[in-house]
Amino acid sequence: MSTLLNGIAASSGIAVAKAYRLVEPDLSFKETVVDHVDQEVTRFRDALSISVQELETIRDRAREELGADKAAIFEAHLLVLSDPELISPIEDSIKNDKKNAEAALKVTADMFINMFESMDNEYMKERAADIRDVTKRILAHLLNVQIPNPSMISEEVVVIAEDLTPSDTAQLNKKYVKGFTTDIGGRTSHSAIMARSLEIPAVVGTKEVTSSIQNGDLVIVDGLNGEVHINPTDEVLAQYEKLSEEYAKQKEEWAKLVNEKSISLDGHEVELVANIGTPKDLKGVVENGGEGVGLYRTEFLYMGREELPTEEEQFNSYKAVLEGLADKPVVVRTLDIGGDKELPYLNLPHEMNPFLGYRAIRLCLDQQDIFRTQLRALLRASIFGNLKIMFPMISNLDEFRQAKSILLEEKEKLQNEGIEVAEDIEVGIMVEIPSTAVMADTFAKEVDFFSIGTNDLIQYTMAADRMNENISYLYQPYNPAILRLVKMVVDAAHKEGKWAGMCGEMAGDEIAIPILLGLGLDEFSMSATSILKARSQIRGLSKSDMEQLASDVLAMTTNDEVLEAVKTKLSL
Ligand code: PEP
Ligand code: MG
Repeated sequence: MSTLLNGIAASSGIAVAKAYRLVEPDLSFKETVVDHVDQEVTRFRDALSISVQELETIRDRAREELGADKAAIFEAHLLVLSDPELISPIEDSIKNDKKNAEAALKVTADMFINMFESMDNEYMKERAADIRDVTKRILAHLLNVQIPNPSMISEEVVVIAEDLTPSDTAQLNKKYVKGFTTDIGGRTSHSAIMARSLEIPAVVGTKEVTSSIQNGDLVIVDGLNGEVHINPTDEVLAQYEKLSEEYAKQKEEWAKLVNEKSISLDGHEVELVANIGTPKDLKGVVENGGEGVGLYRTEFLYMGREELPTEEEQFNSYKAVLEGLADKPVVVRTLDIGGDKELPYLNLPHEMNPFLGYRAIRLCLDQQDIFRTQLRALLRASIFGNLKIMFPMISNLDEFRQAKSILLEEKEKLQNEGIEVAEDIEVGIMVEIPSTAVMADTFAKEVDFFSIGTNDLIQYTMAADRMNENISYLYQPYNPAILRLVKMVVDAAHKEGKWAGMCGEMAGDEIAIPILLGLGLDEFSMSATSILKARSQIRGLSKSDMEQLASDVLAMTTNDEVLEAVKTKLSL
């Protein structure tokens, strides 16, 4: 039977493929006393040997596709599986205590996990994690359930998950993963942002895909309208075939604008630039006619690994991006970790409110060795292109002053070491905390530019967690409260002769773009895949009409009122 679920359209496009559940299986079991211990030992050995075979395949594939360093983790797991110090006590427990294999495995593994975890040594703590992982794998085989592994996918699928961490998303192989859909998350959660940069259609926040979809079900992910169809009828499939064709045609039209200017009907030019997460995203920026990079989220360099990236690794990435874009501007944001972006190896304390906690510039100003390493790498790379540096999560002027003075200290040190650094690097801030938007006039005297981070600015202004789908209705980019803050920032910048951009998702939103154009925003930074559509829209608008529209909507009272006004005015 065909079923329809609604969610949030997180990444445009349409995907039709079989479902692949990326969901942790239920590994609960009952402890029993066994009569035939030899049979039980055999059952355990069988589960062990299948686990070994499986891990060898995963390791080989990881080595081919991700490189030897990423494969090393599976090598470590294989070592654990061949360690008699772990395996013999499990078999002894089956033989002597007559425990079933599941219980013998769990008791023995838990003993080793506790022992390693209590050691004051990072290496040993990691061994505990290895044992936990391999135990899960053997247990799954004993219980005859499957542990999902995205790196083993070898046919076209739609991934079904409760949520995807940014590093899960980064590991999805575009060749096979045609789309994904999740129970939780919103348009600005990082899995959604990654999906857009990977150009994978996605619908998030459906609340119930994992409980409604089984492995192998045929699924349509409609990332244009936020719909998920499960085992669709032939009629629905035919409709989607048509919709896909229309969307492809539309994209061909937009593609004609790749080398054109982003200029309004009455000659006002703005900059349309891209948000990127890694140097690999550059290809998309160029193909989609990006006029530069308005937000390079450097935290992805730090994620999905076991330790901090070295200055040299960072330097190489920054240099690659700057060179890849020749003289086009590249705004690099310094490390913005925290919130939904975790770095397990920093061992940060668990917090009640991570989005309000120890994150981004707060962490960098506290752990200055991390910050200084990044700044040195950036400064060294600065001579290879048009670099601008931006600090995230600035909430007051002291933070900006402190961050900037650390930057200048590192610059001076490098110059004293005889290392060349570009002279004219602009230094700006993200405006994503209401206190900073309100004080934009004072900031404007000291910063070179602003980039408004609406994903966070909206969550902090509306007091609504951007990850929580139950309150996603409070993600209200057109709420006049947000529009007024945007206006304050743009006006404050212009008064001091500075420029104002926006790198939150709102900058690529077809309802917001006309208002932002009217408010005088100078730079719009968005997923590369949104650029051509936005350019096509701006080329059809008159700036002076949009000034009138902006002034009209600023006087309105609700998000929906503004939404309707823009739709009516522009026939959207
Ligand atoms: C923002 O907050 O709008 C932003 C662009 O940063 P991020 O989404 O990475 O928090
Ligand atoms: Mg942010």
